[in-house]
Amino acid sequence: LKGFPYQNILVLGLAKSGTATCRVLVKNGYRVTANDLKATKSDVAVRELEEMGVKVVLGSHPLELLDRIDVLIKNPGIPYENVLVEHAMKIGIPVLTEIELVPYLTNNPLIAITGSNGKTTTTTLTYEMLKESEQKVKLAGNIGTVAIEVAEKLDQEESMVIELSSFQLLGTDKFRPKISMVLNLFAAHLDYHGTFPEYQAAKAKIFANQTEDDYLIYNADDLNVIEMVESAKATKVPFSATKQVISGAWCDDSYVYFKKEKIIARNQIRLVGTHNLENILASIAACMLAGATIEGIYRVLTTFGGVKHRLQFVDQFDGRLFYNDSKATNILASSKALSAFEQPTILLAGGLDRGNDFDELLPYLKNVKVMIVYGETAEKLTQIAEQANVKIIRKVDGLKEAVPAAYKYSAEGDVILLSPACASWDQFKTFEERGDMFIDLVHRLK
Ligand code: ADP
Repeated sequence: LKGFPYQNILVLGLAKSGTATCRVLVKNGYRVTANDLKATKSDVAVRELEEMGVKVVLGSHPLELLDRIDVLIKNPGIPYENVLVEHAMKIGIPVLTEIELVPYLTNNPLIAITGSNGKTTTTTLTYEMLKESEQKVKLAGNIGTVAIEVAEKLDQEESMVIELSSFQLLGTDKFRPKISMVLNLFAAHLDYHGTFPEYQAAKAKIFANQTEDDYLIYNADDLNVIEMVESAKATKVPFSATKQVISGAWCDDSYVYFKKEKIIARNQIRLVGTHNLENILASIAACMLAGATIEGIYRVLTTFGGVKHRLQFVDQFDGRLFYNDSKATNILASSKALSAFEQPTILLAGGLDRGNDFDELLPYLKNVKVMIVYGETAEKLTQIAEQANVKIIRKVDGLKEAVPAAYKYSAEGDVILLSPACASWDQFKTFEERGDMFIDLVHRLK
């Protein structure tokens, strides 16, 4: 790895990114030790690493592992309070994450995206728009593929769109994207980062090494973001869903613009929700700067119905629109989904009872004419629906009954929305399983 200043490396955590880190480093001639509490010697990945020459230590975190180590590369999920990490920092060993290796593997342009919410949607949109513009581009990071595995195989002139969490960013030092993006900043993950300023500082690493030749796209409607990007040296490009920002991406009631150029009429955009409008504006800014075509952007925006389970357009038939928002495992997410529609809505909600009530959902139920409730929270949701004067409220056992019931009470022009406002674990393994079942039931209905 050209210019990588370390030789003896300890990799902490052998999940997907840790395993890839070991493999890439050993292949390039570095001396690698790996440590993990949970993995076992019989894991295929562990056996493969040992065969490649990685020294693998499992089951505990002996401090001697840090002897003769130049750098520690840790899984982003491992907290800084971990004994090995804490000790490494105490004795001056740098602690990095896998993302930091990317600039040593490629000089190709990187488009890096972070924010408290909307990362996956914006990363997907940006990638799809570049692809539709006939550009050579790969997708990586938090979204699924390990960044270094993509970085080492990039073709000439191929760019990479990377979704980054604050955990990943915190362990970077030289990482420098051509285009960086900060979508928004809410108080999140404070159990890990400690305080809001620390969380903000972690996110700020996305532009820390950028110069004026690079771009930083930021949300000009978010005060936390504005404050955070003040010190950035990159060329700043704002986006706003509320005001005209002539140096960036913005919209009025009818159109979306980049600088002075009209990109698309708003009524032609398939994605719904104000939050998604922000994601769209950010993606347009990045893609226009990266040389995408308006035609490419247009094709994506007129067809892309959302990332799976995130206010995802499922189907339209008999004049009804079906949306799957199974990822909405809390009230905030469901209120966003409900705000996205003007039409009469049939809401399917319910799931794991975390002991909270649903009062905060009340203001968002004004377009809801029917509510089908199920799961542990069915009773509580019924009470809120009654307070909101929802006309028809039906309690059923689960999704299997909820979908046909929703259809039965629906009329032409209605939206039928699964946005449970609850985690799925009382009846499903994951929210993905819940969303998949909904999609399947909708198709069977058809
Ligand atoms: P992430 O990858 O950051 O978790 P996603 O794109 O997967 O974000 O969206 C997850 C949820 O976050 C969505 O279902 C929606 O409720 C909310 N969300 C998405 N985009 C935004 C945004 N720009 N601002 C606020 N909330 C958003």
